Amino acid sequence: MLEKTFDEPLTECVLCKSGDIYFYHSTSNNIQIYKCRKCGVQFMNPPYSDNYLNEYYSAYIIDEPEWEKPLICGHNFYLSIIETYANKGRLLDIGAGKGYLLEAALSRGWKAEGYDVDEELTERLRNKYKIRVLDGDFTSLDLGSEQYDAVTMHQVIEHLKDPVPYIKKIHDILKPRGTLFLAQPNIRSRSSSFKFALEKMGIRKKNIGAYYDTDHHLFYYTPRTLKNFVERFGFELLHNRSGHRVKPGQSNFNRFIHRNLDERFLGKSTFLAIFKKKESKV
Ligand SMILES: [Zn+2]
Repeated sequence: MLEKTFDEPLTECVLCKSGDIYFYHSTSNNIQIYKCRKCGVQFMNPPYSDNYLNEYYSAYIIDEPEWEKPLICGHNFYLSIIETYANKGRLLDIGAGKGYLLEAALSRGWKAEGYDVDEELTERLRNKYKIRVLDGDFTSLDLGSEQYDAVTMHQVIEHLKDPVPYIKKIHDILKPRGTLFLAQPNIRSRSSSFKFALEKMGIRKKNIGAYYDTDHHLFYYTPRTLKNFVERFGFELLHNRSGHRVKPGQSNFNRFIHRNLDERFLGKSTFLAIFKKKESKV
């Protein structure tokens, strides 16, 4: 098993730089969760070292062919929502992974491009889709200024050690009124909130904090903390709802019911947020 190594403990909140942070929870696998009193975000403290994260992500993408169809179907649904807010032009998918969002976007007529950290993975995507897929350090990539109509990050922001330079760069590369789509776990989902309450009362004693997914998630957002964070960098929140849960073998009817009923509202384990870049910089 991969050995977990850590940085020095953080003394301030990475998102808002406030020093007013406090111990909030600790998990069965001895991970400490802190919370910022100013912006409300929860985060792992100390965070994993870069060595651990690099090794972890080098083995992150595994082939699970049974998930391909449902995930592409899920991304088609997300893109249909994005298209109600965005011009269908140039799209950048950050954390492209196996390329399912790219594949859905290309089939819908977007001029899609991707980015991921792993070189081997991006090579695979370039060969498969014959499109521009970049790797390396995201913040130093040459992506121009005001070039993209939409930027998507599906289950990515919770993994980033410092999301601030990402949001700043996304603001730079989006056209005025461009759209930013974020999907991530909701640490205040009904299920996590219930388990958290049982743990604090000492009733739930096993798998404490398992919903933090501490093998790879460093930040734990709620719709409110994400909104407060992203809006500080010149964005405006337009839409929130729960994520669309897909799985192999699921019927179209089952998907239809969920995405039009319970998932329309917040409270499920993941949530979506659609932001628009404001006209003027802040
Ligand atoms: Zn903060």
